[in-house]
Amino acid sequence: MSTPFANLVANGVDMTGRRLHIAIAGAGPAGLAAALYLKRDGHRVTVYERFEVPKPLGSGLILQPTGLTVLDNLGLLGDIRELGSRIDRLYGADARSGRTVLDVRYDARPGGRFGVAVHRAALFGVLYRAALREGIEIVTGAELEMADIGEHVMLADASGRSMGPFDLVIDASGARSRLRQNAGLGGRPMPLAYGAFWASLDWRGAGFDEHALTQRYSRASVMVGVLPIGRAETNGRNMAAFFWSLKPAHVAQVQAAGLDAWKARVAELWPACRAYLDQIADFDQLTLARYGHQTLAKPAARRLAIIGDAAHSTSPQLGQGANMALLDAAALAYALRRGSDVEDALDAYVRARRWHVRLFQMLSSAFTPFYQSDSLAFPFLRDGLVASVAKIPPAPQLLASIVAGTLIDPFGPAGLRETDWSKLEAEIGANVLA
Ligand SMILES: Cc1cc2nc3c(=O)[nH]c(=O)nc-3n(C[C@H](O)[C@H](O)[C@H](O)COP(=O)(O)OP(=O)(O)OC[C@H]3O[C@@H](n4cnc5c(N)ncnc54)[C@H](O)[C@@H]3O)c2cc1C
Repeated sequence: MSTPFANLVANGVDMTGRRLHIAIAGAGPAGLAAALYLKRDGHRVTVYERFEVPKPLGSGLILQPTGLTVLDNLGLLGDIRELGSRIDRLYGADARSGRTVLDVRYDARPGGRFGVAVHRAALFGVLYRAALREGIEIVTGAELEMADIGEHVMLADASGRSMGPFDLVIDASGARSRLRQNAGLGGRPMPLAYGAFWASLDWRGAGFDEHALTQRYSRASVMVGVLPIGRAETNGRNMAAFFWSLKPAHVAQVQAAGLDAWKARVAELWPACRAYLDQIADFDQLTLARYGHQTLAKPAARRLAIIGDAAHSTSPQLGQGANMALLDAAALAYALRRGSDVEDALDAYVRARRWHVRLFQMLSSAFTPFYQSDSLAFPFLRDGLVASVAKIPPAPQLLASIVAGTLIDPFGPAGLRETDWSKLEAEIGANVLA
């Protein structure tokens, strides 16, 4: 047999006689991307999602050159580009003095890189529609609870229904994964002191750069941001993700003081935000996101691969989570294509992602207190020393690589070649991504 699965079949691992039977827990970016790769590689794939109707949670996010390369590799870059908003720059200023604190431009490095900010529903919709088109089985209302791992894997859901046997289970069920906890591979992520209110609002251009994530800070305890995220669907309106950093423990206090008091505080810090605040009539429009940090030492066990936030979660300060989830999916599929058996492939997956994940989790941990903490020292350093040093080469290039997710090579170990951004731009015309 000439297929990469020759040994699997020879070892009797493949129940179908040809390919693996794979269960994926979670229809988020990680689970859906993995499902697409593995179905295309000829495996029998079933995705289990806890929601009755699969849906995205939250507002917007930035797809970096890493995540965009995965989507390109899946043939979905055009769909995302059509909906999202091109991002060239991350800009932040002190709310009181107006002094620039952060100014990272993708083009500080050659290669024509950029980000694409998307509504979560846009990313979800593009992946979900592709999964449906390709006939991937998606079982909804199935909250997977435990894995019984032996020669094969049996799964159960919260209602006691059992599923299987599977040759491989992929846990893509997010930061609070039960499967991971039941497999004894890690508890709950360590909660971070600060989270944020998020809202998806209509885009208002005046005073805002439509190709930038723009933020205002006051020390590290206040951060407000506006991110243009394009459209959730083809005929939708242009939108912005609006966020306000706060401690989950303070939410009740903020709500008790009333919406007008909160709006007045935001507007005082950043008057241009009135155009967004005017769209908020109720605290119900604001979703509280809680952040936690966790990095699994080994995101795999026998017949179990853990990908995306289930393997590594953090604050969205560096904006890498969804991108790392997509890279995990690509790396796992690549490892399965080349492995001599499932366990060999899982070891290769763990090795492929180890250093990139660790580096960015570490950077996220290091950067977060500069933007979300009670510290006075970190914002003092940020506004003085760091803001000045950040202008001196090679700092702008380094920061551009951190934001792009490319500080070390994320592509080769995942079997990917980075999209040629300059060629892409030339092909589609410089303004098509606008
Ligand atoms: C406010 C905020 C802003 C962010 N901004 C960015 C950004 O700019 N850039 C970026 O790259 N990342 C960002 N992130 C992080 C990003 O959202 C995550 O890293 C990404 O969604 C992880 O994808 P995932 O598929 O691993 O998990 P998830 O998106 O969490 O998907 C998990 C799926 O599994 C399902 N599920 C859960 N439990 C079960 C179960 N037991 N059985 C079956 N199904 C289950 C869930 O319903 C969900 O559909 C942000 C996160 C937050 C909260």
